[in-house]
Amino acid sequence: MGARDLDTVQFSDATVALRHEADVLVIGGGPAGCWAAIAAAARGASVVLADKGFCGTSGATAPAGTGVWHVPDTGDARAQAKASRLALGGHLAEQAWMDRVLAQTWDNMEQLAQWGYPFPVDEDGLSRRTSLQGPEYMRLMRKRVKEAGVRILDHSPALQLLVDEDGAVSGATGVRRQQGAGSDAWSVRAGAVVIATGGCAFLSRALGCNVLTGDGHLMAAEVGAELSGMEFSNAYGLGPAFSSITKSLFYNWATFYYADGTPIEGAGSSKGRGIIAKTLQTQPVFACVDRADAQIRAWMRTAQPNFFVSFDRRGIDPFTQHFPVTLRLEGTVRGTGGLQVVDAHCATAVPGLYAAGDAATRELICGGFTGGGSHNAAWATSSGFWAGAGAAGFGRGRRVARAVLQAGGVGLRGRGHAAFDSAAAIAAVQAEVFPYERNWTRRSDLLEDSLGRLDALWQRLRDGAPAADAQEAVRAREAAAMLATARWMYRSALARTETRGMHRRQEHAALDGAQRHRLLSGGLDEVWLRRQAVAEEGAA
Ligand SMILES: Cc1cc2nc3c(=O)[nH]c(=O)nc-3n(C[C@H](O)[C@H](O)[C@H](O)COP(=O)(O)OP(=O)(O)OC[C@H]3O[C@@H](n4cnc5c(N)ncnc54)[C@H](O)[C@@H]3O)c2cc1C
Repeated sequence: MGARDLDTVQFSDATVALRHEADVLVIGGGPAGCWAAIAAAARGASVVLADKGFCGTSGATAPAGTGVWHVPDTGDARAQAKASRLALGGHLAEQAWMDRVLAQTWDNMEQLAQWGYPFPVDEDGLSRRTSLQGPEYMRLMRKRVKEAGVRILDHSPALQLLVDEDGAVSGATGVRRQQGAGSDAWSVRAGAVVIATGGCAFLSRALGCNVLTGDGHLMAAEVGAELSGMEFSNAYGLGPAFSSITKSLFYNWATFYYADGTPIEGAGSSKGRGIIAKTLQTQPVFACVDRADAQIRAWMRTAQPNFFVSFDRRGIDPFTQHFPVTLRLEGTVRGTGGLQVVDAHCATAVPGLYAAGDAATRELICGGFTGGGSHNAAWATSSGFWAGAGAAGFGRGRRVARAVLQAGGVGLRGRGHAAFDSAAAIAAVQAEVFPYERNWTRRSDLLEDSLGRLDALWQRLRDGAPAADAQEAVRAREAAAMLATARWMYRSALARTETRGMHRRQEHAALDGAQRHRLLSGGLDEVWLRRQAVAEEGAA
């Protein structure tokens, strides 16, 4: 987008209660954002970090435990780790990026140990660093961010990016959610911005994910950034129907049942999730973790205590009683699509804009599939570290013009009179992306059908009125971001006429060797797609 296309500003300086200047602004305070902030500060940059929630408890990692792709550089351990996931991801990962992430993740876990993270020690006396407890990890990260001198703005969702006359990203504006009317807007003028807003889980109520609505994708696309792999965006998390917890490791020890208590054939196998998704289209599915012995049950209680909270509250014993399960859409959170990065510093194609963590594409290290492979956590720490350092290099000492332009579109600007109904827009997007028959396995006629309605909704919102006030603007921007994400996702899914990674097409059930390329996407009023070759070194 040309900066000259932008017009009026929403928050005149007089209405902005909180104004900051910084070398680097990090948007999002999950692991990626925290690593970015620390890395930028370590290079002498002044840093502000804004989070929609409370940095340290917000996002997908904070409430859960996460596996980490932590592999020693001994023998052929790393070669095997890389090879083991290439086919699963549809041969879209690249060796050089996998090597970089393995090395940086190793170093960052060592750094965490030095900061005092209590990694468990095994019977051989070795520190085990292949998993992290989210609450402890993120509490430590917040502490380190503060000690690095970073100014944290909690409960302060960013709404839009700022750009200078040349289109270079120069900060952002947002809202302080816990302030009274009249003092709720913030603005940060910055030499560079890191987008670390996580993925998009479409407000499906998966634990930790309801802050993840694709805001960073929208803000970045509004200044011309590109996305990649948005067809790899249909991750669904398995969990009890009555709970938001989608940690699904323990279902490896489960049997799945129909309502009458008959086991569902194949539902516990490696292809079982597809069988569960299909069964859920017509009837409820029940589970029971009845294949865990006493030792494993005891381990489960200590490994993931929050898995049991909703069962304990309801007086259900998941090891002996059948309970209803569902699959919640986690979209790009445990998918792999996101903002395209163009260099080793995780810069986007837009000057001054960097992307890290789930907000960025993870195809570089795991192609079109992550599942429970720990790659996302490794990517969050590594890409955050690189993006923060890169942003510091770009932003430090950059003279940002006093007059900057606000790049936000739908929900913030609009010349029409029709009120922006966020709740209706959100429900309309969810109706297209939640159903298993549309999104688990995709079909061209249903994709086109959904896109017809999603495109029309975009036009309506674009031509409507802006949100009524700053607080409502947060919901309006979430709705717009989910809608934009759904359109990139389904356009990409329609164009990939094969089954690869997590992208499944009913009428193209096999992998097509001729489609071993990336699909880049972008644009708002008009969504565009472009193919990009994968570096050959990652080939099978
Ligand atoms: C149930 C579950 C289990 C998982 N298990 C694993 C695992 O075992 N291994 C693994 O590798 N990965 C796992 N993942 C994925 C992993 O959690 C994510 O990859 C990781 O959290 C990404 O870090 P992030 O910092 O990019 O995003 P997040 O941790 O999601 O943080 C994003 C932050 O951005 C903030 N934000 C969003 N929008 C805005 C805005 N407009 N303005 C300001 N701030 C904003 C949010 O509040 C949030 O704090 C799991 C995910 C889920 C849901």
